[in-house]
This record gives sequence, structure tokens and C-alpha cells, in this order.
Amino acid sequence: MNNITCECHLCDINNESTDKYCCQTKVNKLQMTMKQYEDICKDKPPIITVDNTEANRLFNIWNEHGCKYIVNEKTGIIKFL
Ligand SMILES: [Zn+2]
Repeated sequence: MNNITCECHLCDINNESTDKYCCQTKVNKLQMTMKQYEDICKDKPPIITVDNTEANRLFNIWNEHGCKYIVNEKTGIIKFL
């Protein structure tokens, strides 16, 4: 397993033991930062819109993990630093 390259292609949704290769899983396990995820992952889902409750939940998690980000005032798009 490697945290500096995207290994999402090794991930098979039908095989749970390959979950560890997904960048999303690495982020959830704090093996990869959101910034790394943004820069490295080649298999990101499309940009999604979340409501304020979900946004606040995510902000709390990122703040807890010391994750730095900026929110574009106009578009609401979040960029990780
Ligand atoms: Zn990836």
C-alpha cells in the first residue's frame, strides 16, 4: 500500500479486502490527508453539493484532524491546502 500514488484501480467493490487501496479509505483511516487526496487521487467522485448540516459535520471532522481548507465564497467549492 502506498499513500503517495493513487491505487484506486486496485480497488474492487466486490472484494472487501481491496478497500485499503481506495484513496477514500486511506483518508478515512487518516493515512492520507484531504490535500493529498485532492492532489493524488485520479478516481475522485464528481463534485457534490451538501447541505449546511453535512457541511458543518465535515468542517468539524476536518478541524479536528487539523485539516486546512478554504471555501470559495462565491462557488462554495472547498479547496484543501
Ligand atoms: Zn485514488
